[in-house]
Amino acid sequence: MTVVYNRVALIGLGLIASSMAHAMRQAGLVGSIVGHAKSAETRAAALELFCDEVFETAAEAVKGADLVVLCVPVGAMGTIAAEISAHLALGATVTDVGSVKRAVVDAVQPYIPEGVHFIPGHPLAGTEYSGPRSGFATLFKNRWWLLTPLEGADEAATQRLRGLLEAIGANVDVMDIEHHDLVLAVVSHTPHLIAYTMVGVADHMRRVSEQEVIKYSASGFRDFTRIAASDPTMWRDVFLTNKDAVLDILGRFAEELFVLQRAIRMGDGEHLHAYFTRTRAIRRGIIEAGQDTSAPDFGRTAPAAGGGGEGKE
Ligand code: NAP
Repeated sequence: MTVVYNRVALIGLGLIASSMAHAMRQAGLVGSIVGHAKSAETRAAALELFCDEVFETAAEAVKGADLVVLCVPVGAMGTIAAEISAHLALGATVTDVGSVKRAVVDAVQPYIPEGVHFIPGHPLAGTEYSGPRSGFATLFKNRWWLLTPLEGADEAATQRLRGLLEAIGANVDVMDIEHHDLVLAVVSHTPHLIAYTMVGVADHMRRVSEQEVIKYSASGFRDFTRIAASDPTMWRDVFLTNKDAVLDILGRFAEELFVLQRAIRMGDGEHLHAYFTRTRAIRRGIIEAGQDTSAPDFGRTAPAAGGGGEGKE
């Protein structure tokens, strides 16, 4: 592979940054990888695992970089942008991996100097683990990476970034900012909120009525707990910054829930069957699109006798 960027600065050195670093290095796509994270502990781990150099400040880290990737929680993007603004190299590209795009663009764009290209992005890939030790090179393989370039964005800079992302295995699509935030509210943000709520309900039940909900969690509940184990800071920021779209989708969710609740109350089996038939087809569509495994129980190993089965992750 040919080198696409000579010096990549990763700001924030957790799951997404470390996965990018492993993938870029394995494919020989970059000259050097430098980075910055808030804590000395994370910086030391990154230096040991995937960074050539780490810096105590983001400003120092971006000096001389031709690609800067903001990999911090959405709520921290603006502060970082303000700090690095005066230190960005002319002609450099700044991108981000934030799960919400409007809030990041509003927070970062004002600090992008003339002659620097800002191309916002979002990989639709992740796990419930975080930190510099959680990354792996294949995280983005066959996963979508959405770019939301601003009006008048430099075409060559966008194509160069696209080339890097495709070379680490991602399928790149370009999307309008508002559309991104609405789509993500449907496919990711609201489902996470529902998972958090369901686990919260079970926890409350356990505490108030001593029900054995954890012991019997091998049914659907276990998958909710995996999602609900996601990073609290990241998800707090997602809901604070994609408020309108999430509230819109939650309203629709509540309407659907009431319809199903009524069908159950009225014993309307026909309605329930038709509904579940439609939702089953959606699952099949996701598998056909190569976005999940068709193996039973999401490819988990067979349950041990009497147990709930171990997750692969
Ligand atoms: P993570 O593993 O928790 O890592 C976050 C990193 O940001 C850590 O290295 C942390 O440093 C650093 N950081 C936080 N605040 C900072 C600040 N003010 N200054 C400097 N560094 C700071 O998170 P992640 O999962 O990689 O997520 C990073 C971004 O990717 C988020 O914007 C998220 O929305 C987006 N994203 C996540 C996923 C996912 O599933 N995880 C998927 C797609 C996109 P310390 O370790 O020193 O605290």
